[in-house]
Amino acid sequence: MATKDEGPAIGIDLGTTYSCVGVWQHGRVEIIANDQGNRTTPSYVAFTNDGRLIGDAAKNQVSTNPINTVFDAKRLIGRRFSDDSVKSDMKLWPFKVRGVGDKPIIVVNHNNMEKRFAAEQISSMILEKMRDIAEAYIGSKVKDAVITVPAYFNDFQRQATKDAGLIAGLNVIRIINEPTAAAIAYGLNRKDRVVRGKSVLIFDLGGGTFDVSLLNIEEGIFEVKATAGDTHLGGEDFDNRMVTYFIQEFNRKHDKDISNNPKAVRRLRTSCERAKRTLSSTSQTTIEIDSLFEGIDFHSTLTRAKFEELNMDLFTKCMEPLEKCLTDAKMDKSDVHDVVLVGGSTRIPKIQQLLQEFFNGKALCKGINPDEAVAYGAAVQAAIMSGEGNIEKVQDLLLLDVTPLSLGIRMATGVMEVLVPRNTAIPTKNERIYTTGFSGQTIMTVSVYEGERVNPKDNTLLGRFELTGISPALRGVPDIGICFEIDNNGILVVSSEEKLTGNKSKLVISNSYKGRLSKEDIERMIKEAEKYKLEDEEYKKTADAKTALETYAYDIRGRVNIHSHIDPSLKKKIADEVGKVINWLGSKNQPWSREEIDNRMKKLENLCNPIFPKEVTGN
Ligand code: AMP
Repeated sequence: MATKDEGPAIGIDLGTTYSCVGVWQHGRVEIIANDQGNRTTPSYVAFTNDGRLIGDAAKNQVSTNPINTVFDAKRLIGRRFSDDSVKSDMKLWPFKVRGVGDKPIIVVNHNNMEKRFAAEQISSMILEKMRDIAEAYIGSKVKDAVITVPAYFNDFQRQATKDAGLIAGLNVIRIINEPTAAAIAYGLNRKDRVVRGKSVLIFDLGGGTFDVSLLNIEEGIFEVKATAGDTHLGGEDFDNRMVTYFIQEFNRKHDKDISNNPKAVRRLRTSCERAKRTLSSTSQTTIEIDSLFEGIDFHSTLTRAKFEELNMDLFTKCMEPLEKCLTDAKMDKSDVHDVVLVGGSTRIPKIQQLLQEFFNGKALCKGINPDEAVAYGAAVQAAIMSGEGNIEKVQDLLLLDVTPLSLGIRMATGVMEVLVPRNTAIPTKNERIYTTGFSGQTIMTVSVYEGERVNPKDNTLLGRFELTGISPALRGVPDIGICFEIDNNGILVVSSEEKLTGNKSKLVISNSYKGRLSKEDIERMIKEAEKYKLEDEEYKKTADAKTALETYAYDIRGRVNIHSHIDPSLKKKIADEVGKVINWLGSKNQPWSREEIDNRMKKLENLCNPIFPKEVTGN
């Protein structure tokens, strides 16, 4: 809950490629634009020798600083270095990732030093940026936030996302599933507002990921019935197809291969992405890039039909998970009440057409902005949880979430026994009584798994703990209770207790799994985050001081030139000093220090103030 001097709780869609923030104000959700006027912010963090950049500024300099510009942190968060997905993702990233223990650590060069960051830290920087965007708009401090995660995120990934929030100095009041958030937005935007007893399919095709989720909305419970998709399919793949096509065209026209020139390819990619967006509303567009390669300008046209032909197999691939999702949910396509479009790539007309055909001509729900639906739902959830305003339209929605995967323990027989089946509404608690496997047994090891397979080896081991000091007795006599408890954020605590003695033990997953950050790690990272924030502020102050000195120097130069009454020797002295300052400011790779800038400013002021007092110059 927000305290009185804190601003309202916000909703953050922490996306793989873009993030978005919203807040409930004046009886509706406001999606907040960033300092560039954009309502979504690239999930990019760049490290340079002049400081740290986050969002648009980081993405804009990626072609000149690829190895120190980090994106896709969401693909790493809560994962092990040895995961197959991490290994294959790493091949595509220009930045370095190393395994420390089994935790993936991002290695960059920052301020001329090697720096290492966990994915949680990179995500925390993006969360901080989203909070700053919200604070600038709301005009007060923001502490509480609801953050969204994909429905398929496991416990580690959820915990790690929560940790990222903590490092950013946020109080994460709830982690919710992205399709649930989108469904909330859908519920709030329906004219009839009747969302009970409805099956809703959320089709979420973003920049780099694709998720299909089937939700059942019943008595206020948003139950994710099934999810399917592809973690590597989205708008960027469509851009790639266009890039390959135009590289070939350039080669054909000019007999030159630009594919090994990263800068040219990056510029081409940016133009392709823009062209792709245009083709969602027009049937033809042009690509015009001056001096793309070796001074050669590139001009070409692209029709929507050609764009569709280039991507047809990928578009068709987007329809495959629909069948799987329906089969998993044991539903027929005719049972789906509404199909909701989420993610920027669902604006592509061909995707919409194929989807509509799949659902036998059913009209798609386009009432909500696909880039903002998730943040919109998160903002509603945040408002409800912090008791802000009377949100009449969703009053009847309890907004309960469910567990994405089954949770259980490994039995002595080598199978996984499920204590919390997937799709159980949370919070939930379930206790079962077990006993010893042999006489005189005093220690019991509890191995906790997550997944749907019978053999625990095929599932994810969440952690292992021991209950010691069991009273020695004959096999099968002691009663050992094992309890699974999941809180509102989908975070699990497993405990065991010998009923006779009350002797207890508890699994704190955060401590038992070496991939998770420890309390000490988080505290250290919070301190580091504060340090980086101070560094950023210092960097901004230095940049402002530099701009002020430059403005002053040019202003003086202009005044000296138009004031004929000044003594020529003084005029020369001032002109020389101004020249020195301008040269110094223009020289590359200076270690700009505030002190040095201030000294030069003072020196110039002392020289010029008697003739052009500072107030008069307006500086
Ligand atoms: P998201 O990850 O949901 O923010 O989606 C971002 C992706 O949507 C990027 O690949 C964009 O190029 C793509 N996108 C955004 N607007 C459009 C549009 N009008 N037509 C086609 N793709 C779009």
